Amino acid sequence: KALSSDEVIGRAEADNVRFINLQFTDIFGKLKNLAITTSQLETALKGQIMFDGSSIDGYKRVEESDMLLKPDPSTFQIFPWRTGSHGNSARLICDVCNIDGTPFTGGPRNILKKVLGELKEQGYDYYVGPEVEFFLFERDEKGNPITKIHDDAGYFDAAPTDLGEDARRDICLLLEKMGFEIEASHHEAAPGQHEIDFKYDEALATADKITTFKLAVKTIAKQHGLHATFMPKPFRGANGTCMHINQSLFKDGKNAFYDEEDELGLSQEAYYFIGGLIEHGRELAAITNASVNSYKRFVPGYEAPTDVAWGICNRTPLIRIPGSRGVATRVELRNPDPTANHYLALAVILAAGLDGINNKISPPPYYDGCAYEMDEETRKKKGIKRFPASLNEALDEMEKSQLVRKTLGDHVFNTYLKVKKQEWREYNEEIHQWELEKYLSLY
Ligand code: GLN
Ligand code: MG
Ligand code: MG
Ligand code: MG
Repeated sequence: KALSSDEVIGRAEADNVRFINLQFTDIFGKLKNLAITTSQLETALKGQIMFDGSSIDGYKRVEESDMLLKPDPSTFQIFPWRTGSHGNSARLICDVCNIDGTPFTGGPRNILKKVLGELKEQGYDYYVGPEVEFFLFERDEKGNPITKIHDDAGYFDAAPTDLGEDARRDICLLLEKMGFEIEASHHEAAPGQHEIDFKYDEALATADKITTFKLAVKTIAKQHGLHATFMPKPFRGANGTCMHINQSLFKDGKNAFYDEEDELGLSQEAYYFIGGLIEHGRELAAITNASVNSYKRFVPGYEAPTDVAWGICNRTPLIRIPGSRGVATRVELRNPDPTANHYLALAVILAAGLDGINNKISPPPYYDGCAYEMDEETRKKKGIKRFPASLNEALDEMEKSQLVRKTLGDHVFNTYLKVKKQEWREYNEEIHQWELEKYLSLY
């Protein structure tokens, strides 16, 4: 149950909380926090804690940099890993406000809330269940991460108890203490790769949970002498890391994507939502897959999508409709990865689906072949586009997108493009190990 400000103060006192981290994210999804002691909790809950917005990536210029943090009392959580005789530590997730108290249009959480507000006006609620994967790497004796994976197990393997399995168990137990309902956890297909799934929830709550999830995974892995990474493709020749987004719209307490009369069990809204995602899929890529490394995942053979199409059980196109119907009817978007700022990603994904509904965008027929084996001619005949092959291509698509610009607002849209284009240039100008190995002797 969501707490009010007064209840947060009461709870903090009863549970011997001494420190509170006020958390928020920059526009690239990086978690930031400001710590206060309980003496400042009341002031904080009134939204009166000020910080320097010019030091946060993508926020404000130095000449207008005072900003406020407005904690959302419903996000109060004690950190189970920081307890002890010096008192407990907790966190509150915050919205970022301008100095006059109005919501800052560059705050990722504010941007998601805005799209959710528009959705609400149409009578819908947006529910999201993510599947976040990660790799566990070893650390050297100084504790620095090294590029050595901790095991060589594969999909669903019951490995002999190793550091990885212990870490995964501890992450699950810890998340349960923090109010998560853990549905499943398993070894993933690549060596050293894992997945932990938690129950779907309303989109804002899910986004906040992803923030907590990433922090918990990294923290517990470290306690086990391991390094957890959400980098999408640490090796060539093995599966990469995704963050599948399972989503449904609810209306009047019912799953609006389900229609038992329909041949596939999908409603008109579901078809239009899919239509919107296909129409805009390429434009969203730079947000849903935010790194240079993200695009190394989209090659045939590793369960990652390659084509902007949809299928039923098919794992090769961008969108899949998993088997369950009724209340669990959902549209699974398979391209996102955890380099995305998850607040912005959910905002643009929802905006695309909603655009499909509002403009009645019918999706193309579903594709039941293996997209990995599709030749250019079939692709052309069916009008199926490929997903962008690089961050550069994705940024060009985003730059042309009215939908993404409108959803993110000019400030985030322009700053994001500027910083990410620079990231691409840096990568492109670098001489990589592969080039030396390939060409040094050849030419
Ligand atoms: N790791 C795969 C990807 O990169 C997904 C594997 C799965 O969950 N089926 O998308
Ligand atoms: Mg899964
Ligand atoms: Mg998986
Ligand atoms: Mg999945």
